[in-house]
Amino acid sequence: MSQASEPKKGPVLVLLGGTGDLARRMLLPSLFHLEADGLLPDGLRIYGVARDGQSPDTYRTNVRAALELREKTIEEDAWKRFIARVDYFSGDVTKPEGAKALADAIGGHSELYIYFSVSPSIYPKACESLAGAGLIRENTRLVLEKPIGRDLESSKALNCAVAKVATEEQIFRIDHYLGKETVQNLIALRFANIAFEPLWTNHTIDHVQITVAETEGVGDRWPYYNEYGALRDMLQNHMIQLLCLVAMEPPADLDPDSVRAEKVKVLKALRPMSRATVSQEVVLGQYTSGVSDGKSVTGYLDEVGKPTDTETFIALRCFIDNWRWAGTPFFLRTGKRLPERRTQIVIQFKPLPHSIFSNSANADMVANRLVIDLQPQEDISLVLMNQRPGLAQEGMRLQPMPLSLSLAKAYSGHGGRRRIAYERLLLDVFRGDRTLFVHRNEVEEAWAWVDGVAEAWQQAGLKPKNYAAGTSGPAGVHALIERSGHQWHD
Ligand code: NAD
Repeated sequence: MSQASEPKKGPVLVLLGGTGDLARRMLLPSLFHLEADGLLPDGLRIYGVARDGQSPDTYRTNVRAALELREKTIEEDAWKRFIARVDYFSGDVTKPEGAKALADAIGGHSELYIYFSVSPSIYPKACESLAGAGLIRENTRLVLEKPIGRDLESSKALNCAVAKVATEEQIFRIDHYLGKETVQNLIALRFANIAFEPLWTNHTIDHVQITVAETEGVGDRWPYYNEYGALRDMLQNHMIQLLCLVAMEPPADLDPDSVRAEKVKVLKALRPMSRATVSQEVVLGQYTSGVSDGKSVTGYLDEVGKPTDTETFIALRCFIDNWRWAGTPFFLRTGKRLPERRTQIVIQFKPLPHSIFSNSANADMVANRLVIDLQPQEDISLVLMNQRPGLAQEGMRLQPMPLSLSLAKAYSGHGGRRRIAYERLLLDVFRGDRTLFVHRNEVEEAWAWVDGVAEAWQQAGLKPKNYAAGTSGPAGVHALIERSGHQWHD
């Protein structure tokens, strides 16, 4: 009779880059919150993996320090449960011997989740070594951080290297914007209400604005950033994902493949830019010294220490050439060292075809607007016209009033803690739900369009224009939108 096999030791999360910035600021706090809410898989063990040779006890002390940096109070019972799961492994997972030693340290397990919170340049070698050590099998899920490549070619190479060891169903590409409550609310707003769908077309929507503004500069991250710039670092992933969620057709269901198929159709319909059109459609900027958050700050060139044409700001107008959106411009802008931190989508409806009101009331009239704020507050508000209360000589007066779906207000009595976007995504990795993750086809379609934009501006000799830190971008950013008869919603 064969001997009874060893009991499985339950699920394991391997956090490659477990001492890095992302792990300390986002991933470990998110895992702790899931613990506090009783949402971690039963028996889950967590291995922080890095190359810095610290002891498991020092690592646990550092995990506590990372939590204390962002938590007002730490629930001690949850902390005890959480830290009992946490271990640390020091080694280089790109080397076969490092991966083998990690596999030995983990021992038996049921499901294995490997979170690549490391530079994507090491994904191919790490995948090869981890697979060689038997750590990538059918019960393994791989979580990949951005950037998935720097252009279509490098992104294909990276995706191919990962595809050698895992199927697409096992791969979870993170775009943490998709983990934000408001982004999921956008899906709910569009597809759980009948009211918006008939209006969600070029007949009623005048244009769409998507803004991701940061007050921070590039600072020490310049070696990475200088290779990417605003187009590749921010627009190719987060902003294009938001655009897809606004513009996609209703999927048949929330199955990951149904949603992703609709997003890919949007990406395929994005009108390519050409050398002839690009200078009318794109504005590039680079910050110089100035004042940001009340402090004097240096310019990008001083941070880099050598001449560079990398853009720290981009604004562009694009079109989705399909039946629903023909002729409706989408304006996207993102930049560093802007006056405020803000991520916002504005759906601007068209003006009334005819007004029945008096001239004085008409003077107060603004077209309806749906404003979706993702940062710093999460909020959705619909600006509607309303009768201004009280009596006036001129008769009826009007005023715009926001109808607010503020999440913060609605949930203030329910423990009200704002979730980190990574909590939702980590939970979905454990549950195996890929709806909020990015498919290889999406990444590659987005790169194909973005490469075309960059190529067009290189051919046209477009260079970034200066803007002082703390201002809202180079001068041309207003002309870009005014040419279409619109204004930025600031
Ligand atoms: P980081 O440089 O702060 O940390 C890197 C970590 O990887 C360290 O723990 C290091 O020891 C470990 N590491 C490096 N090579 C290794 C190897 N061969 N074997 C084992 N461990 C190794 O990086 P980060 O800022 O935490 O970013 C990690 C990833 O997340 C990157 O892909 C980055 O683009 C992405 N990302 C980061 C942020 C952020 O806010 N930091 C945001 C979005 C995406």
